[in-house]
Amino acid sequence: MSTERITRSAAGKVVVVTGGARGIGRAVASALADAGAVVALGDIDASTVASTGTEIGAATARHLDVTDPASFTSFLAEVEKTCGPIDVLINNAGIMPVGRFTEETDEITRRILDINVYGVILGTKLVLPKFLARGRGHVVNMASMAGENPTPGMATYCASKQAVLSFTETMRLEHRGTGVRFSAVLPTFTRTEMITGTRAPRALLAEPADVAAAVTALIARPRRRVSVTRTAGVLAAFNKLTPRP
Ligand code: NAD
Repeated sequence: MSTERITRSAAGKVVVVTGGARGIGRAVASALADAGAVVALGDIDASTVASTGTEIGAATARHLDVTDPASFTSFLAEVEKTCGPIDVLINNAGIMPVGRFTEETDEITRRILDINVYGVILGTKLVLPKFLARGRGHVVNMASMAGENPTPGMATYCASKQAVLSFTETMRLEHRGTGVRFSAVLPTFTRTEMITGTRAPRALLAEPADVAAAVTALIARPRRRVSVTRTAGVLAAFNKLTPRP
């Protein structure tokens, strides 16, 4: 395969996927492995990530807590030892507790911000020096359409995803001309365990494979952001179904 073709596809790239044990992360990792990427999975659920890694043909699959600098640092070091220099970091790990804001405990508020915002910033901070030194690399941050669409019952989550969008865009501007790329992915409600128990109407959901296809294309041709919307009006429908305090 020519160098040109390698740079225009996921093939041969070392790609890290956080939160890769299940859901969107698993689907993205599986699609990238199928496309010839060398995939490294990290997840706080050590046993599930190990079996997922085997099932999808990942090069490595290990425990990772994206909120813990020591865990993230040693995870990335192990990936580099096993797979070589990292080309793409996909900051995908996230949580979405749903409920009335007045009933959200401070513990849950902090956990959402810790995983969804700090975890993304920490991962970026850890890979960026090597990306800049090599003059290439791609950070892909899993935001959400909820980051741009205020959704009752998900205030802290919406704020966390708006923060991811802002951080990604600021990184892009700050590192223009360095060869390092930054992208945000904005899926609509997607059929994973994350939304089990929420009022997202089943018929209106995207599938993890839809997000995986968008991310695979994004890695082949980096863009600022990509939205994944299967059905127009999903958020409007969700808003109608969610009780307003
Ligand atoms: P999911 O709950 O199915 O999977 C999330 C994964 O992240 C799990 O495997 C979990 O163990 C892992 N994880 C949680 N905390 C972690 C931590 N501290 N360190 C490492 N891993 C951790 O969720 P999903 O639907 O696949 O969501 C993946 C991403 O996509 C999230 O960032 C989410 O906000 C975003 N997203 C999801 C939807 C949706 O409707 N499902 C829509 C838009 C965006």
